[in-house]
Parts: sequence; C-alpha cells; structure tokens
Amino acid sequence: MLTISSISGGKSSAYMALHYPADRHIFAAVLTSDPACIIQDADLRAYCQSKLPQFDWECGGCREVDQTLLNLQRLEQELGQSIDWVAAALTFDELINGVRVNGVQDAARARCYAARAVLPNRRQDFLPNRRQRFCTRALKLYPIFWACYLHGDGDPAIMQIGFRHDEQARVNRWSCKNDQLEVPLRCDLAGQFAGKHRHSLIEWRVPDFPLARDGVTGADVARYWQRRGWEWPLVSNCDFCFFHRPAQQRHQAERYPERAQWWIRKEQQVGATFGDKALADILSPDQLDLFEPDLGQFACACTD
Ligand code: SF4
Repeated sequence: MLTISSISGGKSSAYMALHYPADRHIFAAVLTSDPACIIQDADLRAYCQSKLPQFDWECGGCREVDQTLLNLQRLEQELGQSIDWVAAALTFDELINGVRVNGVQDAARARCYAARAVLPNRRQDFLPNRRQRFCTRALKLYPIFWACYLHGDGDPAIMQIGFRHDEQARVNRWSCKNDQLEVPLRCDLAGQFAGKHRHSLIEWRVPDFPLARDGVTGADVARYWQRRGWEWPLVSNCDFCFFHRPAQQRHQAERYPERAQWWIRKEQQVGATFGDKALADILSPDQLDLFEPDLGQFACACTD
C-alpha cells in the first residue's frame, strides 16, 4: 500500500510532510483564468509551469496566493522529494460558467467533464457554497483520485491528512463516505445508453491523521514555523473561500483587492452568493461587524 501525504498548501500539512515520511506528496491546485492571479515573479511562474505544463500560467494562475506556492517550492526542496501537482482539466471559472468539450478525444478534459456529471446540480451557472461544495470534489478530490488510481499499485492508498490534535472534531466527523468517490469508469458505446457513463463507487483511500494521533497542536505547528522563519499567509486554500470568516476575507481584500473582484464578479454574473452574504457586502465598510472575530488560527474545512 502506498502512503500519500495530502499537501493542502497550509502550514499543518507542510509540517506533516516534513515529519511523517510518505511515498508520494500530492498538492491539488485550483486553477483560474483570473488575470489578477497571474504570478508576477518569473521564477515562481516558471516553477508552477513545470509542475502543470498543460496550463498557461501567462494567462491565469491559482486561487492559492503566491506565498503558498512559494512555500510549496521551498517545501519540496526541504523534502528532497517531488511534490506532485494535480489539477482538474477545467478552471474554477469553467466549473461555474461551463466548458465546451469538442468530442471526447481530449481524455483529461472529458474525464473532468465526466466528473461533473456526478455533481449534485447540472445547471451551467451555479456557485458552490458550504452545502453544495462541488468545487472541492471537482477541483481537488477527483484530480487527486485520478493521480492515485492511475499511478497507484491498485490498492487504496493510505492518505496522510494534516488534521491536528486540536481539530479532533474534524477527525471525528470523518466517515467512510469521505473515502469513497463515484467514478465514471465505463462508457456504453452502443445501444439505448450509448455515450452514457457507468459509474462505480470506489473506496480509494484509507485516512491517517498523524498530527491528531501524536498530539501535535496548532500552537506546536506555529512555533515550529516561527523558529524556522517561514512566512505563511493567514489562510490557505482558495482566496476568499466561503469557509473563511468575514474578518479574514476583509484582511485578504486589503492585501489582494483585485483577487476579491473575481468572487464579486461571479456572484453578480450568476445572481447568487458563495456564502450567506454577498462578498461585496461583507467587504463594504458599512457592514463591519461590531465584534470582529479573532484573525488567528484558522482551519479551512475544504477537505472535510
Ligand atoms: S478552498 Fe473553498 S472555494 Fe476552494 S475548492 Fe475548497 S471549498 Fe471550494
């Protein structure tokens, strides 16, 4: 059985990667055609290009901020082991607004399109939200699944996940459903259902939570990186994700005002909101909460 370390781009999973050996390390990048996400630093852009050569980094980037990508590069050097980047064949923009597939020759794109077929809602313009979090499935879980399934040894992989000891609730919430995916593995070529995908439910990973098991807390992780002098963005995963708290979204908007515009535009285009409130309202100076929550330690629930 292969052991795979799931690298989220945050400091806990980076700590896990350095302290718990694994056969492979996998990071799922969420791609976007948003020009505000084009990486300005040429070296970092070239590094990302080498990781996902099929994507045009001159025209778009990741929804993860550049500091996260820089830390991934540095982490890879420290590990002395490659971090495999995976990405869906469609960007976050295409996931929301739809994608044209010309024939089925483009396997990666067709596969990804097939993944969309098991999304809960088939409307073209639809925003993910806390309840219908199809972005995680389409942009992270399926690409990681395919990387494990196509290049694994045939058995489910042991997947190290960076939930900490102080995040026991996340560990307890984990159920076997988190390790199963409905996957389009066959396509009927003739007959009544020609062209229709046949899905199979696959148990594709066995979770392991080494930080939670060994009592490693957020404070331990923060101390470790402070001692090492690494800089981490306040929040990892997608910028302005609907799991981030309003105070964190405002903090990000101060640093990345252009990136905020993408989320605001999508909400306006689709006529819906990612979170309970429109991001434009959250960022409006009139809407500041009376009691601002603490900006400190924050665990994005993207992979839960
Ligand atoms: S970080 Fe948030 S927006 Fe990005 S894939 Fe995960 S749930 Fe979706």
